[in-house]
Amino acid sequence: MSDTLEIKDLKATVDGHEILKGLSLTVPKGEVHAIMGPNGSGKSTLAKVMAGHEDYEVTGGSVLMDGEELFDMDVDERSRAGFFLAFQYPLEIPGVSNANFLRAARQARLPEGEEIDAVAFYKEMYARMDELGMDRKFTGRSVNEGFSGGEKKRNEILQMVMLDPKYAVLDETDSGLDIDALKVVAHGVNAMRSPERGFLVITHYQRLLDYIVPDVVHVLFDGRIVKTGGKDLALKLEAEGYDWVKDEVLANA
Ligand code: ADP
Ligand code: MG
Repeated sequence: MSDTLEIKDLKATVDGHEILKGLSLTVPKGEVHAIMGPNGSGKSTLAKVMAGHEDYEVTGGSVLMDGEELFDMDVDERSRAGFFLAFQYPLEIPGVSNANFLRAARQARLPEGEEIDAVAFYKEMYARMDELGMDRKFTGRSVNEGFSGGEKKRNEILQMVMLDPKYAVLDETDSGLDIDALKVVAHGVNAMRSPERGFLVITHYQRLLDYIVPDVVHVLFDGRIVKTGGKDLALKLEAEGYDWVKDEVLANA
């Protein structure tokens, strides 16, 4: 199907251990899907496998982005084709300023030989930073180096808005955020919701979903999606924890 991010029977291993065991879900453009699941269920593995992290081996299945196989693309091609991942643990890149990093990423999206308009770029970046409540000093600092947890998460969202992806995966972007920062981040995401874009929001806690209200909620357990529902499923998980999901899975095994 085109106009979807379609994950089909995805299997992946790390160090020979199978972590994703046949995971399937489809995010149509225009929708926000949430993935919830206990720690260690494979949420970050899914995110990193899609982004092309070299520690993970894809052993089966596929991910089609608007009908194109993600696994046939190099990592930078995935990004240029419109895939974006906000990391649970953003990397620090010493020696590369935030502004230069974003500028290079934007330049890489232009046709061969075309130069980025620096004035327009800075104007846009400053406007986006203002919206996210980021001080301008962050443009000159090395990417994420010495940033607090919350500052790193805001910086991930800044990257997302500047790169304007077709599909954005946010891996526990809420973790480490106080309530005010959470609202800022949620506002940044909500402002980007559009019929032209799909979101996959990974979270351990339902709190984020009070602010980014999902269309669909999936529960990931032991490397598979074991339940799919609406927003109320997240509330049930919040109230009752994950044990009842585990019990259901084991009862059906
Ligand atoms: P979640 O994000 O749902 O908490 P992860 O995807 O991070 O879960 O981890 C799933 C499982 O895979 C865990 O048991 C974790 O220890 C293991 N795992 C993930 N990445 C690695 C890695 N690079 N090396 C070894 N084990 C890993
Ligand atoms: Mg994780």
